[in-house]
Amino acid sequence: MIKRTPMVAGNWKMNGSRSLVESFSDTLNTHSFKEVDVVVCPPSGYLSFFVAETFDTGGQDLSAQDNGAHTGDMSGTMLTELGARYVIVGHSERRENHGESNELVADKALKALDNKLVPIICVGESLSIREQNKVNDFVGAQLAAVFDVLTTEQVSKCVIAYEPIWAIGTGKTASPEQAQEVHAFIRETLAGKEKSLAEKTRVLYGGSVKPDNAAQLFAQPDIDGGLIGGASLKTEDFIAICQAAI
Ligand code: PEP
Repeated sequence: MIKRTPMVAGNWKMNGSRSLVESFSDTLNTHSFKEVDVVVCPPSGYLSFFVAETFDTGGQDLSAQDNGAHTGDMSGTMLTELGARYVIVGHSERRENHGESNELVADKALKALDNKLVPIICVGESLSIREQNKVNDFVGAQLAAVFDVLTTEQVSKCVIAYEPIWAIGTGKTASPEQAQEVHAFIRETLAGKEKSLAEKTRVLYGGSVKPDNAAQLFAQPDIDGGLIGGASLKTEDFIAICQAAI
């Protein structure tokens, strides 16, 4: 049985400031996160202001292209040069607000790997999909698109984040049982490709994780940590969530 190192990644979205980056770095660097991988994903313009000693940084998105006429986009190479080691792909806000398809998300994951970045691939359903009892079909299709583009070996280098859209920024957390059910499905899907892939791959939960619900969620057998939005902007809350993952 392979032991998976838990991971907590903070997604600042379009929030924060240079002074928050500085105070965040100072505080996080006083903690040694030995048994949990900690990642902070700020707006990309702030990446180079981080002094990250005890944690890593990541981007929130990358282009599926290497360079060229793509105004406003950021390439994998650029993120790497800014010090990022991870990158979120397929966040529901990118899928909804920027029309990103399952196929584009898979292409972005591949581009991230090409640039030695670890993609954190987000999947998750809306409330209406849940109410129609189609969660597994929906999440299964999002994963299938990834397997159409990435080899099993490449998927083994990725992190998956299950983020039910109805729980993002709403204060409505999936119950530990609801989250575990989908995480188990994701792990079965990975096992369907290769048993060791299911054992190795970290599957994070995201959706209104807070210091007071993190431990119960992270205690589920198939939840390996979290992708944290709102609470990742509050240093003490974020550290408490990281500690809950150990
Ligand atoms: C997110 O946006 O990835 C997220 C999980 O947000 P929140 O924690 O605020 O629900």
